This record gives sequence, C-alpha cells and structure tokens, in this order.
Amino acid sequence: MLLDNTKNGFILKSDFELKKAYFLFKIISNKTLTNLGKTLLEVALKLRLPILFIVRGTVFEQFCSGETLDESFDTVKKLNNKNVKSYLHYSVEGLENESSYDLSLNEVLSSITFVAEKSILDFTVFKPTAIANTQILKKVSSSESLNEKEKLLYDKSLDRFDKICHLAFKKDVRVLVDAEESWIQDAIDEIVLSMMMKYNKEKAIVYNTSQMYRHDRLNYLKTLHDIALRNNFFLGIKLVRGAYIEKENKRAKRNNYLSPICRSKELTDQNFNNGASYILSNLNKFSLFSGTHNEESIYKIINIMESNRINKDDANIWFGQLYGMSDNITFNLASEGFNVIKYLPYGPIKEVIPYLIRRADENTSVKGQTSRELDLIRTELKRRSVI
Ligand SMILES: Cc1cc2nc3c(=O)[nH]c(=O)nc-3n(C[C@H](O)[C@H](O)[C@H](O)COP(=O)(O)OP(=O)(O)OC[C@H]3O[C@@H](n4cnc5c(N)ncnc54)[C@H](O)[C@@H]3O)c2cc1C
Repeated sequence: MLLDNTKNGFILKSDFELKKAYFLFKIISNKTLTNLGKTLLEVALKLRLPILFIVRGTVFEQFCSGETLDESFDTVKKLNNKNVKSYLHYSVEGLENESSYDLSLNEVLSSITFVAEKSILDFTVFKPTAIANTQILKKVSSSESLNEKEKLLYDKSLDRFDKICHLAFKKDVRVLVDAEESWIQDAIDEIVLSMMMKYNKEKAIVYNTSQMYRHDRLNYLKTLHDIALRNNFFLGIKLVRGAYIEKENKRAKRNNYLSPICRSKELTDQNFNNGASYILSNLNKFSLFSGTHNEESIYKIINIMESNRINKDDANIWFGQLYGMSDNITFNLASEGFNVIKYLPYGPIKEVIPYLIRRADENTSVKGQTSRELDLIRTELKRRSVI
C-alpha cells in the first residue's frame, strides 16, 4: 500500500534521528512517563534549572522547525527538495491581552510577507484567539450583547482579521484560519465567512476550518456552499476531525446540553469522509485542505479523486500533516505527485512549551496513531538493518 513505504516515509531521517524519534514516541506513548516528564519540566522551569537544552534535543526538535522564521527555513528547503511544501505557525499560546494580540497580528503579517518573498511557500495560518479576546468571541457566539468597551475591542479584532486577510489577498498567500472550541466558533465562522466573501472573489485565499467531529458540520458545509453560489465567491475549507473533544464533551455534560460532538469515533470518521466527498464533488466552488493523519480518509480522498478524474496535483486539493508526525503520509503522497504540506510550528523554546505539551498529550491519548508511528519506525530501522 502507498502509505506503507517506510523508505520514502523516512527519507529525511538519519539512522540516529530515527532511533531518537523511536525513543521519544516510546516515552510519550506511556501516560505515566509523559505526566512525570510534564511535572519535572514545570518544576525545573519554576526553579530556573537549565532544562531547555533537553527540551530542544527531544520534543522541540521532533515537533518544531526552529525558534524563528529564518531558522525554520532550513527545514522548509529540505522538505521542498522532496516536493513537500510548508506552512509556518508562530506557536506561542495562551496570552490574552490587547498588546499580545497586536504582537501576534504582526507575527502573522510578517509571515505573510515572508511567504510571499520565498517562492517555495504558499500558505500561512493563524489561531483566532491569538488576535481576539476569547470572552468576547464567546459572547458574540451566544448572541449576548456587548457593552461599549467590548464593542470597541471586538471591532479591533475584526480589524486584525481584515488586516491579515487583506495582506494575504494582496500578496496572493493563502491563509488558513484554525478552528477552536464550539462556544466561540460561531463568531469565528461569521467573521471568516465575511472575509471569504470579500477576498475569495477570484479564488480561495481565505480558508475556514471545519471540525468534522461536530455532527452539524456537514450541514454547515452545505449551507456555506449555498451562500457561495448565491453570492459568487469561492470557499476554502481546511477539513479536520477536531482537537478539543474532551473539553467539548465535559462542558456539554456539566451544563446539561447536547454535546456538539458525534457520538462515536466511527460517526466522526463517516462525517469527515462525507465532508471530503461533498467538497470534492463541488470543486467549482470549494478548495480542500485536508488536515488529517487518518490513512483511511486519505485513501478515500485519493479514490474519489481518481473516480472523479481529478488530477493528483489539482491546485485546489492539499493534504496537510503536522511536523514530526505521519511522515509516511507526507513523503509517500508527495512522491506520487499529490500536493502535500507540513505544518511547521516555530517560536522561542520556552514559549512553545504549551504547544509541545499538547502534542505529547495528543500522542499519549491517540494510542493508535502512536503505535502506528512506532511500527513504521521499527520497520524502517529493520529495513536499514540498524536494529
Ligand atoms: C494540518 C492539521 C491542521 C489542524 N488544524 C486544526 C484546527 O484548526 N482545529 C482543530 O480543532 N484541530 C486541528 N487539527 C487537529 C485535528 O483536528 C485532529 O485532532 C488530529 O489531526 C487527529 O485526527 P486525525 O484526522 O488525524 O485522525 P484520527 O487519529 O483517526 O482521529 C482522531 C480524532 O477523532 C475524533 N474522535 C476520537 N475519538 C472520538 C469519539 N469517541 N467520538 C467522536 N470523535 C472522536 C477526534 O476529533 C480525534 O482528534 C489539525 C490537524 C492537522 C493535521
């Protein structure tokens, strides 16, 4: 099978790097060790112990491309040599004030200019809560009225969205807007829709993210399609399953409302595949960015492309994976001529620790994915006769 070729999959990894990745995935697949590591890291940082060099040599190297845009460019070039594109994300999280929103805005604007200057990059990305206040997004999403100060702050965030999308449009750089928790997502959907209407007149420049673990999202895609047909603009969609399942289910239970999440993994998988299929059948309006490490979904998309006679390198279809994960998907799809892109997080080591902890947690909880990574690395180490 296409995605099982480990020679292609780990083409950029030396024997040493591969062994290190194996060791790392082995540790993070163990919940007790991961939790112990997180606690030790917290304590060491509080005591100001010189621990960051360990983070750099392990999880940072595995899941981040560097501390700055320029430092990350080496990775971008290496990936590009194997026909894999990159999009860079300043992955500093959790700062909730106006000046940090402005800093994030500037970081995104610089990344757009950086992408436009380097011909081997195409997309950029940002997280709405990096440029807008979560509490206000929540109020708007639940149709609560805003006081004067909140209105002012909300207008400022709308302005930040517009600055990003406008520059992206001017520089012809596609911009992916990440999806977040359902209780703030309605406001984000509304804003991104207005950006798509404004900037996607000729092609999809602005992409919204649709989390298919939500049972309402297939209808959402159909509604968007309707609006785009009536208003004559293009839709960019990053299709993902969704990252906040535990939070979503817990909150719904605590507040006694129906969880927005599908009742089972199988239903999420069906919803994702149906969403992809719907988009691929309506490529005259949609562009698809499929953000998934699920091999079955990838095979389904490839099959639909084949039966709909869509070229492998159709400019409106992209496959995206996170840096440090599912290299077998990335490099095998790229070597077959599909459009593939890696999400490259970057930022000062100390600041990207929350992102790294999320990656470790995800790999601990998504057992299947981690054991797949371990199996693939083991197969490649055996093929190279180094174990
Ligand atoms: C390039 C890229 C961009 C991304 N951007 C975003 C983003 O903007 N916003 C965001 O939220 N996430 C984002 N993600 C993360 C994504 O949503 C998933 O959490 C992650 O990719 C794992 O899902 P998967 O499709 O790779 O495959 P799998 O490992 O097959 O699926 C795991 C996912 O299935 C769902 N699931 C698991 N158990 C159940 C259950 N019992 N019931 C219902 N559903 C279940 C969850 O969504 C879980 O994350 C992104 C991922 C990638 C690769």
